[in-house]
Amino acid sequence: MTVNQITGIAASDGIAIAPVYLLAEPDLSFETKSIDDVASETARVDSAVEQATAEITVIRNTAAESLGEEEAQVFDAHLMFLSDPEFVGQVKTKVEDEKLNAEAALKDVSEMFIMMFSSMEDNPYMQERAADVRDVSERIMAALLGVKLPSPATISEEVIVVAHDLTPSDTAQLNKQFVKAFVTNIGGRTSHSAIMARSLEIPAIVGTGSILDSVEDGQMIIVDALEGVVITNPTAEDIAEYEAKAKDYEDQKAEWAKLVDSQTTTKDGHHVELAANIGTPKDAEGAVSNGAEGIGLYRTEFLYMDSADFPTEDEQYEAYKAVLEAMEGKPVIVRTMDIGGDKELPYLELPEEMNPFLGYRAIRISLDQQDMFKTQLRALLRASVHGLLRIMFPMIATLPEFREAKEILLAVKEELVSEGVEVSDDIQVGIMVEIPAAAMLADQFAKEVDFFSIGTNDLIQYTMAADRMNENVSYLYQPYNPSILRLIKNVIDASHAEGKWTGMCGEMAGDQIAAPILLGLGLDEFSMSASSVLKTRSLFSKLNKSDMEVLANKAINETTTNEEVIALVEEALAEN
Ligand code: PEP
Ligand code: MG
Repeated sequence: MTVNQITGIAASDGIAIAPVYLLAEPDLSFETKSIDDVASETARVDSAVEQATAEITVIRNTAAESLGEEEAQVFDAHLMFLSDPEFVGQVKTKVEDEKLNAEAALKDVSEMFIMMFSSMEDNPYMQERAADVRDVSERIMAALLGVKLPSPATISEEVIVVAHDLTPSDTAQLNKQFVKAFVTNIGGRTSHSAIMARSLEIPAIVGTGSILDSVEDGQMIIVDALEGVVITNPTAEDIAEYEAKAKDYEDQKAEWAKLVDSQTTTKDGHHVELAANIGTPKDAEGAVSNGAEGIGLYRTEFLYMDSADFPTEDEQYEAYKAVLEAMEGKPVIVRTMDIGGDKELPYLELPEEMNPFLGYRAIRISLDQQDMFKTQLRALLRASVHGLLRIMFPMIATLPEFREAKEILLAVKEELVSEGVEVSDDIQVGIMVEIPAAAMLADQFAKEVDFFSIGTNDLIQYTMAADRMNENVSYLYQPYNPSILRLIKNVIDASHAEGKWTGMCGEMAGDQIAAPILLGLGLDEFSMSASSVLKTRSLFSKLNKSDMEVLANKAINETTTNEEVIALVEEALAEN
């Protein structure tokens, strides 16, 4: 390996060559000074406010385009605040009265506003306003100091975003037209930024450990997200080599695209369902254009995360209806919200936890804060008449949790029916199997659920006791480890014994090494990033299910490590 290579975890396929856009914490330090020329200082305030307004308007419009009008509303609040004469007026008065420089006056006034809003602790609306003031003041301060504030939504040239980490909402703001790839210091293949990158189809490498310190803003780099390699100082030869590689990859994708309207059938005629995972209604377009046979996982929490407040029943209804209609009668599995873990909500106060992934999360919150849960269920049931809806509860550990969730669902249904609202009678209700306790007890669960969907991202982290966000232990993300395969087999067999079906919506389902084994284990539905659907369909068309059964059996009974299973699969694929 040459010195100008940095390796990381390939999180979303593709190759990109472009200059770096550093998304680092800006330095907004300044000196407090007293000034003589009050008029020119207040003029500085005006022009900084003007610049901030222009920038936020661009961000707002970009967000509206890529995420929808609702998600853009948070920026409307910022603009409203900027145009409020109260705030800007107080900054200018402070400059005039105290002969303070604009930066110091802005800091004092914004701190006062923040303190005032955040002191109203019981009022989430006011807490939100405090966050608005913080954001807006930071932008005015950056304008005053002439510092570029990184704002992914305003990128308007081809770049590769480099950051320590990207939050799911940072990721959602990336405009695919200009952001050719992103690379981060931390994260793993199943961290949510990686998952979002795949649904946005942006090449990504995460968990490099050091990218942020290794490149400068504007520097040309190559991202090979097929291999997980970043080339930081490419020569002309490197660039030519990777341009060729990128072209080969595009040609391959064009080959896969021919399968867009076909069913997924193995060489020996066995049919499985390939579905897509989505995070927003807009992602359903990618599912359709990539030939998905359904939605195997709609992660509804993004609806909550991209909003300034709890989404209302009607807002949720519209989102669910849009997905069901886009899929035109194909099955759509909607997962009730999975907030917690690495997914926070600014307006829902979650307790500080030592281990958020082991804490107050998903169904645990829904069963505890039932009003929020019922709103979501009402919206889902109302939407059910627009397509083929399936409802799935996340993070189920015990049967009583499932029973309680289902009871609430049935009560909500009854309530709607008594209100005269039409609800579909054909709604399967299932659970995610992502906690080892549920996987072990699958035979009991199978008597009560309509289906299972195995969430390997969490199932692996809990089985191996290795945080999915921590790159230091990412080597323990071992989907092929026979321990994991045995748990999966247990779930599939248990469902079949009761005449039920099992899908998988963890990232493992679209993994080209794992998929042949899962086929052999009898998995019924594979749900993955839309961008993996066609290559998996192509792979399955070359395999015999009967051969994969033999392979799966060997992997389960005759291997001891992840690596041995990889070798076994590679050998079997080479024979095909
Ligand atoms: C999983 O855990 O495998 C899963 C699909 O859910 P998430 O990644 O949203 O936790
Ligand atoms: Mg999960």
